[in-house]
Amino acid sequence: MARLDPHSYADDTQPKVVSLDWEARVDFPSRTLEAAATLTLAAAAKVGPLDLDSRGLEITSISDDRGDAVPFTLAASEPILGARLSLSLGEGVRSVTIRYRTAPDASALQWLEPAQTAGGVQPYLFSQCQAIHARSVVPLQDTPSRRITYNAALTVPAALRALMAAGFVAREVSGDVAVERWSMPQPLAPYLFAFAVGDLASRELGTRSRVWAEPSVVDGAAWEFAEMDSMLAAGEALFGPYAWERFDILVMPPSFPFGGMENPRLTFVTPTLLAKDRSQVRVIAHELAHAWTGNLVTNANAEHFWLNEGWTRYAEIRITEMVEGPDVAALLAAICRRNLDETVERFLREGHGGLTRLRTHLTGIDPDEVFSVVPYDKGELFLRTIELEVGRQRFDAFAKRYLDTFRFGAVTTEAFLAFTEGELPGVLARVGAPRWVDGEGVPEGAPVARSARLDAVEQMGDALPPADTDLSSTEWNLWLERLPRPISREFCSALDQRFPFTATGNMEVKVAWLRVALASGYDAVLPEVERVLTTVGRMKYLVPLYTGLLERTETAELARSIFARAAAGYHPIACAVLKARLAKPPPPR
Ligand SMILES: [Zn+2]
Repeated sequence: MARLDPHSYADDTQPKVVSLDWEARVDFPSRTLEAAATLTLAAAAKVGPLDLDSRGLEITSISDDRGDAVPFTLAASEPILGARLSLSLGEGVRSVTIRYRTAPDASALQWLEPAQTAGGVQPYLFSQCQAIHARSVVPLQDTPSRRITYNAALTVPAALRALMAAGFVAREVSGDVAVERWSMPQPLAPYLFAFAVGDLASRELGTRSRVWAEPSVVDGAAWEFAEMDSMLAAGEALFGPYAWERFDILVMPPSFPFGGMENPRLTFVTPTLLAKDRSQVRVIAHELAHAWTGNLVTNANAEHFWLNEGWTRYAEIRITEMVEGPDVAALLAAICRRNLDETVERFLREGHGGLTRLRTHLTGIDPDEVFSVVPYDKGELFLRTIELEVGRQRFDAFAKRYLDTFRFGAVTTEAFLAFTEGELPGVLARVGAPRWVDGEGVPEGAPVARSARLDAVEQMGDALPPADTDLSSTEWNLWLERLPRPISREFCSALDQRFPFTATGNMEVKVAWLRVALASGYDAVLPEVERVLTTVGRMKYLVPLYTGLLERTETAELARSIFARAAAGYHPIACAVLKARLAKPPPPR
């Protein structure tokens, strides 16, 4: 037996599952899916086992394509991996049908009460399968090194729409239910399997894209994301034709734990992107970039996550440079670098130097708990270093060949290094690749972004800016990130009176400011911190704000009491991550 992935029971000596036919009935009152999953194998099976990943699934029956019952054992659940579902296949079996029910606390699913939605009338359900949660919805080989195509039929209340990361086939209403049929012809990694059910409306954005959201949100979203066509054009100019036909966007309810999730054909995004100034479209650039880097070529498992997110951060900054110009791209790169340096410093201080490497070792470690910006931003800097060494023209040709070579596949760090050495001989030695891949922290001499606007922000230093200072939200964000902390309460108070950071609708600016204020003991912001923590579920904001509260003895108890009240509204993934942080708080400053 040879396991493919430290986070999956999939075994490369066993048959390969290549497609899924999925029927599921969504039951809001019991918070369960009653489902049947037919898994088709790449070739007729020989007698032997087929190990699948599952978590919390109640298996009713398993039969094969001849209608015979398939003997199976469902092992006891293991904390990170879930329960191994082991099938005994007979000679010549082509497919198996598993009938089952999901658990009410399935880790991929969040069931929202009407009060947790913008409309307040209908319930809402959505999935989030990355990193290893697909197994709580469908029993399968839940590793990015296995891809499946799928057909799905979701039965939902007729008042609701069901959307999937797939191509729409049909909606059939009968009585008080609707069956929505979707089909995904391009093979995807299981972490990209996705759906949402709710009161949803759409607006066209361009020839290949529309935005979906709750009816009261959809017009604002359409305005915010109006630049979709130019972004798609930029992506194709850089990386070749878009492989997924459509790029639709679904604006999620506030509890969505991430900025965005690059589910193919239907990217999920947090409503915190609706800043009313189009400043957050960089997250869309990031999710779009995943169409190539990630969805087309992904990491073989979580230990090589940088190949997914590092490439995507690099692509995001390149797309931003094309759409918004080099000045804005340099500002973004500078913000990313601040976040990276801060994260690396914290990991080293807390004794987690291993997590500052690009290639990580994660046996026995939950990938959600070690999620950080390191694979994103250290990965981006490594690729940027290679670009600077060989020149942009050669690098761009290299990137296209990489994407072509591993198209619809998965890559390890070793495979990436071998490919790079073949295409760009000697470059790895010249840039000191081992320091990047297996070394801790950020290597000396890492590239630094430069631009006139960036210089201007840096020259502002930490003096109180004049009242007529006119900066973009990205520039304010960077300036706030660069402020020393703690800084005096008098300074915080003067800043708070002069600029509307506490009240701004731009969450990047707001949270950057709240973090400075928390670190400085400026307690006037505490009501706003509490408001954010009880109304927003995006982990990018929750984690630093809770951390800021926990770092001061005076506010540590407040962190616990807010969490106790707010946890029920958080996504299960956010809840687990925050629980771990509260249990092991950072040392007080
Ligand atoms: Zn990403």
